[in-house]
Parts: sequence; structure tokens; C-alpha cells
Amino acid sequence: MSAALELIGYLIVSAVAVILVLMVRRQLAVSRFQASREAAELESIQTRLDAIRQERLRSDDSVSPWNGWREFRVSKKVRESEDICSFYLEPCDGRPLPRFRPGQYLRFQLDGIPDQSKPVVRCYSLSDCHHAEHYRISVKRVGAPPDAPDAPPGLASGFLHEHIEEGALLDVGAPSGHFAIDPDHSEPLVLIGGGIGVTPVLSMLNAIIQSSSSREVWFFYGIRRRSENILTALLDQLSKESAKRPNIQFRVCYSEKLDDGTALKPFEMDQTRVTVDLIKSLLPSKNFDFYTCGPPLMMKTIEDGLRDWGVPCERIHEEIFPGPQAASVCSKEALIEAGTVVEFRMSGKTLEAPEGCTSLLDLAETGDIEIPFACRVGSCGTCATTVLVGGVEHAQDPSWKDEPTLLEEGLCLPCICLPKMGLVVDR
Ligand SMILES: Cc1cc2nc3c(=O)[nH]c(=O)nc-3n(C[C@H](O)[C@H](O)[C@H](O)COP(=O)(O)OP(=O)(O)OC[C@H]3O[C@@H](n4cnc5c(N)ncnc54)[C@H](O)[C@@H]3O)c2cc1C
Repeated sequence: MSAALELIGYLIVSAVAVILVLMVRRQLAVSRFQASREAAELESIQTRLDAIRQERLRSDDSVSPWNGWREFRVSKKVRESEDICSFYLEPCDGRPLPRFRPGQYLRFQLDGIPDQSKPVVRCYSLSDCHHAEHYRISVKRVGAPPDAPDAPPGLASGFLHEHIEEGALLDVGAPSGHFAIDPDHSEPLVLIGGGIGVTPVLSMLNAIIQSSSSREVWFFYGIRRRSENILTALLDQLSKESAKRPNIQFRVCYSEKLDDGTALKPFEMDQTRVTVDLIKSLLPSKNFDFYTCGPPLMMKTIEDGLRDWGVPCERIHEEIFPGPQAASVCSKEALIEAGTVVEFRMSGKTLEAPEGCTSLLDLAETGDIEIPFACRVGSCGTCATTVLVGGVEHAQDPSWKDEPTLLEEGLCLPCICLPKMGLVVDR
């Protein structure tokens, strides 16, 4: 009798246990189903948001760039590293901002620089992708060059760092420049930024991230040490999301040894420079468009390496920021033949080139003829001048517009061009 009761009790306990297990399993299945449904809903919201964002960006295409200077307010100033600050700029007129091509730059007419009687014009690349409300630039404070330690530090960069705070007003020219990508294209890209030269390629990278494009991108960032890295947060985030974005690969190369006791992250390399040998060791092929911006000597080394590797010229794109070594990357010896005569029509002056004159701008300065300039390396077009009679030869390829287009439009870039005998310009 007691054995039968024991059996019944055992059966009841077992049945309860089975029911409990089934209930828990069902609850788990329901939770899993709910979680996957929520994930699907989130994904669908994300897709709709992306579509709205894309639509908003497309609608900006209809906004035309402005002529001349437009007033912008500094809405935010962010210190990115010891000597780099980002400035967020909103138009004072409240009208929409034209969309720019990632890699383009803005020109600034800076008034009120101490001890300067006239405004100073400089170019700064847009360092982020397009946003409807603001543009962003990132500026490195430039010190005296190592070979001239007593020279005054950089005028415009020092002024922006020291005198321009949130709320300040700046005169800004519309986005321009040909060192730029079309974010809707799909050709694979290699983006190389050295030091502050990272700004235009960062804009390209951010545009690709923003568009959720599956375009293959290799991003290389060369700096001396980790404390100079202004992309730590972005690259850490990209690294975490690498499974979501297998198309984006990146490496940060520090030329110095990392000696702060921390470990290198998988995308960091120390005692390494960005070279074509490094790029070759990582890329599956040379079938990429290469965009490089960095110190002139780094760019020259990379350009030579890419040409030796057999990358066609039309796939190598470069932008030079002016600097002490800029002249050394000129592809031809840049000197005007002494005795060459040039007439500057508006100034009413005719000048004969002395020995050692390196450009039409240089020649104009010997005769106190003012030609506004910003970059002195053929990048910005500030000095563009109309040729009335005769011809010029550009001593390096202008990155503002290619030489055939310039000549077709009857223009030259005095900062990098050599006049031929008898040239007449409208300056
Ligand atoms: C298309 C383009 C995009 C650019 N984008 C960026 C960007 O995104 N971020 C950025 O930081 N920069 C950028 N630049 C560079 C920027 O335009 C300026 O050239 C840079 O900020 C230096 O300008 P500055 O007025 O501060 O220096 P400058 O006053 O022009 O001085 C330049 C250098 O010359 C030295 N110098 C001055 N006087 C003498 C002298 N008598 N003898 C010897 N040396 C002297 C200075 O010490 C300094 O090292 C870009 C340039 C171009 C063309």
C-alpha cells in the first residue's frame, strides 16, 4: 500500500517537474520570439531613418553654393589634441547649407589678426561628412619651422586657436576643390592621411560610414605618437563594429615607439610609417583609387611608390597643404628664366624677372603688385588670374583645376606658374 502511494507521489512530482520545464521552455521561446521581433522592428525603424536621412541629404543637392563670403557663427569649438581644434560653423543667415563633396575645403577671410592691416585668406578642409546644420573644420596650430625657430608662428592657425571662440563670426567662401570623392560611387578606395592631412580623407571616411555604403575602403592614418591621434573615439567605435562593416579596414601608424605601458590595439602599429610597402602587404590588389594628403615628403614617397607599383596616374589623387617642404614636391624645376618680361595690366607695371624667381606670384611681389593668395601650392585657386596675352607653364599639376581646364578658361595660377616671354595678365 505504502509502495503504491510512494509511486503515485513520485508520478505527481515528476509530472509537476515536466510541466514546470515545459512552462519555462515556452516562456523562453516567447521571450526569444519577442526579442527577435523587437530586433526586426528596430532594424526596420533604422532602415526608415536611413531612408529619411538619405532623402534629406538628397534634397540638399538643390541648394547652390554661394558667391563671395558668407557669415558663419562658430557654434562649437572642440579641442581634439594638444595642437588641433575643431570648429563647428553655422550660417548666420539661417539658410540651408549646400552639400559638399567629401574632401573639399572652405576658404576663410580672417579679419582682426593682431598686427595685420589686411584680412588673411586661408583654406581649411571640411573634416566631417555633410550635416544639414553645420560644417566642421579641424585646424592645427602651426609653429615656427624647425629650420627657422625664430620665425613668427602661423598667423591664421594661431589666430583661430587663440582668438576665435564659440559665438565668433567668420567670413567663409563656399566649399570647393577637386580632391574629393563622389560618395555614391562604388570604386574601392585607399585613403591616406598624414598628420593634419587626415582632415579631407576623414571627411571621405565619415561620408562612407554615414551612407552605410558597402564600398571597400582602406584608411591609413600616420602620426608620430598616440597623443596626436584625433580619431581615437571613431576608430575604437569602428573596431567594435567591424563585423557590421567588413568593407572598412583601417590602420594607425605611429612613427615613434609606444612607450606608455599600454598594449597596441589590433589596428595600431608603432615604429611604422605609412608606406606603399605596408599598403601592398595588406591590400588584395592595386585596383583602388588612392587619395593621399599629408606632409609633402610623405606624399612624394607614396606617389613614387604607387607609380612604381603600376597604379595608373588617374587613380592617384593628392592634396598638398602648404608647408616648408611644399616646393620640394614640384615635379619640375620651378624657376622663371631670368629676363622674362611680364606686363601686369591693372597695376600699370611691366617687370623683368630677376635670377631665382620661382613663380609669377613671386615676380609680382618683387614689384609690389598684390595678388591675393592662400596656399601657394596650386590647391586653392585664390590667386587665379586671367591671361590676356601670351602663355604660362604650371610648374606642378594644380590640384584646384587641371592645367588644360585652366588654360581653356584663360586662367593661370600665379603661385605655381612660370610666365613665358611677353605674358600680359590683368593684375
Ligand atoms: C586646400 C587646403 C586645405 C587645408 N586644410 C587644412 C586643414 O584641414 N587643417 C589645417 O590645419 N590646415 C589646413 N591647410 C593649411 C592652412 O591653409 C594653412 O596653410 C595653415 O593653417 C598655416 O597657416 P598659418 O597662417 O597659420 O601659417 P602662416 O602664417 O602661413 O605660416 C606658415 C609657416 O611659415 C612660417 N613662417 C612665417 N614667417 C616666416 C618667415 N619670415 N621665415 C620663415 N618661416 C616663416 C610660420 O612659422 C609657419 O610655420 C589647408 C591648406 C590647403 C591649401
